[in-house]
Amino acid sequence: MGNHPFALVAVPAPMPEPLTYAVPGGLRGRLAVGMRVLVPLGRRRVTGVVVGFERAARVAGVKEIAEALDDEVLLEEKFLELCRWAADYYVASLGEVLAAALPPLLRTESRVVAAFAREPEDLHGEVDRQVLEALRERGPLAPATLSRLFPRRGVRAALERLAAQGAVTVGERLRGHMREARRRRAAPPAKTAGGAPSRAPVLTDEQREVLRSLEGRLRDGGFETLLLHGVTGSGKTEVYLHAMETVRAGGRQSLILVPEIALTPQLLDRLEGRFPGDVAVLHSGLTPAERWRHWWRIAHGVVKVVVGARSAVFAPVRDLGLIVVDEEHDYSYKQEEGVRYHGRDLAVVRGRIAGCPVILGSATPSLESYHNARGGRYRLLELTRRVQARPMPGVDVVDLKAGQESAPAEGLFSPPLLRALRENQEQGRQSLVFLNRRGFASFLQCWSCGFVMRCPHCSISLTYHLGRNSTFCHHCGYRRRKVDACPACGNLSLSEVGFGTERVEHALRRLLPKARIGRMDRDTTSARGAQERIFRAWERGDLDVLVGTQMVAKGHDVGGVTLVGVVLADSSLNLPDFRAAEKTFQIISQVAGRAGRARRPGRVIVQTLVPGHYCFRHAQVHDYPSFFAAETEFRRELGYPPFRHLVHLRLDGTDEDGVTQRARALARDLRREDNPHEVEILGPAPAPIAKLRNRYRWQILLKGRSRPALGALARRAVALVPKSRTVRLHVDVDPYNML
Ligand code: ADP
Ligand code: ZN
Repeated sequence: MGNHPFALVAVPAPMPEPLTYAVPGGLRGRLAVGMRVLVPLGRRRVTGVVVGFERAARVAGVKEIAEALDDEVLLEEKFLELCRWAADYYVASLGEVLAAALPPLLRTESRVVAAFAREPEDLHGEVDRQVLEALRERGPLAPATLSRLFPRRGVRAALERLAAQGAVTVGERLRGHMREARRRRAAPPAKTAGGAPSRAPVLTDEQREVLRSLEGRLRDGGFETLLLHGVTGSGKTEVYLHAMETVRAGGRQSLILVPEIALTPQLLDRLEGRFPGDVAVLHSGLTPAERWRHWWRIAHGVVKVVVGARSAVFAPVRDLGLIVVDEEHDYSYKQEEGVRYHGRDLAVVRGRIAGCPVILGSATPSLESYHNARGGRYRLLELTRRVQARPMPGVDVVDLKAGQESAPAEGLFSPPLLRALRENQEQGRQSLVFLNRRGFASFLQCWSCGFVMRCPHCSISLTYHLGRNSTFCHHCGYRRRKVDACPACGNLSLSEVGFGTERVEHALRRLLPKARIGRMDRDTTSARGAQERIFRAWERGDLDVLVGTQMVAKGHDVGGVTLVGVVLADSSLNLPDFRAAEKTFQIISQVAGRAGRARRPGRVIVQTLVPGHYCFRHAQVHDYPSFFAAETEFRRELGYPPFRHLVHLRLDGTDEDGVTQRARALARDLRREDNPHEVEILGPAPAPIAKLRNRYRWQILLKGRSRPALGALARRAVALVPKSRTVRLHVDVDPYNML
């Protein structure tokens, strides 16, 4: 408890440092680090978190804390330590990290809430019943949230009627409800999804061996990072589940991170089956109220297992016994906006702070993680065989260039792939067809004058979507109806160049007229629940062929799939990205891993224009260590991670000249800084996507061996670029996307 007259308050906003506020007499001795307070900021009042106390104010004219919002510590010290670490490492402010880490309801000034009090004598109507039901199910909600849940239904009037009867209380604060909710902790609310309790299979020798080597660590705790490298279908998930059971038996909580919740319905089924009623799921589809409710259940230890995507690394788990990061190589762990943190890397830091083991699992570990395992920083655990002695699928690489027996059908399917698709369908088995690009044609180009249809807001060509008879910008969503005449020369010679999943689906419908064909990409899954519907149909065997983007490559375990076709592997290999080969190896291995997971063996056909590339050679024989060796050599030579580290600085703004000048000045100023650790300063240069959403983009790349030196230089850059609306600086430490 702080008895000091001043408190340091972090406000979830891009403020450089926590701000100093005076503690009013009535709150002295009642505030502690980790409690929320309401503070004046400019003309607003905002929610902040107390992060420290001071005897004297270092600045003049400090304002007073308006109100305390909690009467017990909401954010424990270890949680704040993680946030401080992230702020330091990712060159952000503590407030920015808190904004990324806390659910919105905890951040807003949500002082007026409605809460269920007791059953009413009688109900006025349907709206009253629904509002009451929502409050009983979800816990206290702000009236505004209720109005969003039941739009245009007269929620306010319903609340008034219910309050008049004493069925609902309105106007209390969150903290009161926290106390009330704690009292009811013994009876947690019903869980979200159903599912009968399920039993674990008999473990394979390899699984048992891995778990035996983990046992002491899981029982006794202590920080250690374990890299579980297991081929696809080797039963990694089963290892996680057992480890989590051990942790639960010890009375502690587990946190499991997955790349994207929507892509892992099966994992959720398994978690619910194994820990019925004990699982909290955090995902982006939650309403603010739902998120808050889960947050609360986690913070109070009501659930033993927490699962979520990258931001769940900030879940308020208190008695952490284990963190699992499934598919640790997956790029979706990287946050690409605001504080650009990496969920996997923060998970390891969190494990160190919490003093618990962290398991990173993958069939295709990131180069960084495997490098750490090789160097002895992580302990390597291996599952080398699929369960029940199922063979790994055979992989054929087909050269799309010259020398083919005949031209590919519709320009998409080589004779071997088409033959295999037909055979597989005749035998009533399922085929997965993968292409890393959606839409019908990549772009439209005029054969007369060379004009390409482009987005007016981004320096990107527009992708043609046949089903909607329009061209779209995949970056900003701009839409333009298809025209027949070239907008530049007027000739009727606009033609389709390149192809995406929509075109693949079209071609397949002609080539396999009897097949039941589905498609899973961002176009077919934009409606709520659509993705799960497609997946469940695929799982049940209601589809013979599923065409899709990387959405279909991840984690699915469908026994009927015996053939996987990769239409054009080069689409990821040719990206201007030093990780292109790694990405391609991963995607081929992962998508191949979907084949032959049940009794029948699987087969994979990969089409490419560069069959000799080492990423195909090693993927073909499922040889990760050889791929690692080859890729490592390339990275070492060119000075890329994991041998040197990168910080990407991007400047953007609506005024092209302003951005250009600012970028040049920044690079010049950075070169004048003391640079004892020889950080390389590359650039400035226009970004590969030179304009996005009407903002012009320039970049500077920092490269070096010393992370502290890189961090210091990045912090200098932040200081050198004055905060303004016209030109903004974005700092990306350990960047993944430099387009
Ligand atoms: P991975 O995560 O390594 O791809 P999973 O854990 O999903 O593998 O396991 C693949 C399939 O094998 C799943 O259907 C799972 O239920 C099953 N499985 C896992 N371990 C065993 C085991 N010991 N015996 C039988 N089946 C198993
Ligand atoms: Zn655009």
